[in-house]
Amino acid sequence: MPKRPLHLLIFTDLDGTLLDHKSYSAKPADRLIATLSAQAMADIIPVTSKTYSELLWLKQDVPLPFVFCVTENGSVIHRPVDYFPINGEPSPVVTLGVPYQEILNQVAAVPPALRRHITGFADMSVEQIADATGLAFDDASRAKDRQATEPFLWFGSDSELGALQAIIGEAGLRIQRGGRFYHLTGHATKDQAMNFIVKSIAGQRPDCDIISVALGDGPNDLAMIEAADFGVIMPNPDGVTIESSKAHVRTASRPGPEGWVRAVTEIMAELGLNLRQS
Ligand SMILES: [Mg+2]
Repeated sequence: MPKRPLHLLIFTDLDGTLLDHKSYSAKPADRLIATLSAQAMADIIPVTSKTYSELLWLKQDVPLPFVFCVTENGSVIHRPVDYFPINGEPSPVVTLGVPYQEILNQVAAVPPALRRHITGFADMSVEQIADATGLAFDDASRAKDRQATEPFLWFGSDSELGALQAIIGEAGLRIQRGGRFYHLTGHATKDQAMNFIVKSIAGQRPDCDIISVALGDGPNDLAMIEAADFGVIMPNPDGVTIESSKAHVRTASRPGPEGWVRAVTEIMAELGLNLRQS
């Protein structure tokens, strides 16, 4: 029986994974991505904590020929408008998390004694976000353009934060701690978004065997890395490298885009996939 062709879906975190932590460069991974796309051997699917606005902006610098992408840490999937309808309606956006307006409605419903300790992006002007984050004005504006997560500064006590967690937990939200900012978010995760996309594409490509590859460097990437057919942990030269005991998870030999190229090339060789030399 002839072997069915393989099609790779490469789910990749951006900062510290496809992009160098410091320079934000994707070199030399950008060349491999261009070749994989030109030869239709793989779909590259960014999976990031960034907003969609931030990702589109980044795309002007880094060639990311993506059709699908996942933003706000798994909360939102973007895809072609006609990919397949949801409830009979064409939809370019699938929200796995809680839609932004609903999050803001829940914040508005928080009792005033706790609400006064919350300063969310929605409460802040672009200038204030730029001041608080150190982002340039335009970058702050793209960071403010949110779809399913709300960063906020917290000015209350730890016990009051516990009380807030209990209240918003009832509404299907949770609080994640970032650096300075906390995040109000639903329960969507990067691995859920990956599974959704794998199923969608497998349904559209019955002629192929779909192989998923996931690469990331953060604790919030680990479930996605472990859920893929091939998982790749990217070493973190300045901090703690995440770990997995799963046999199908490897750690790249180098951090950032150089390690990205080595790991993807290695996996392709194991699968017997060869790039045509141009
Ligand atoms: Mg990262």
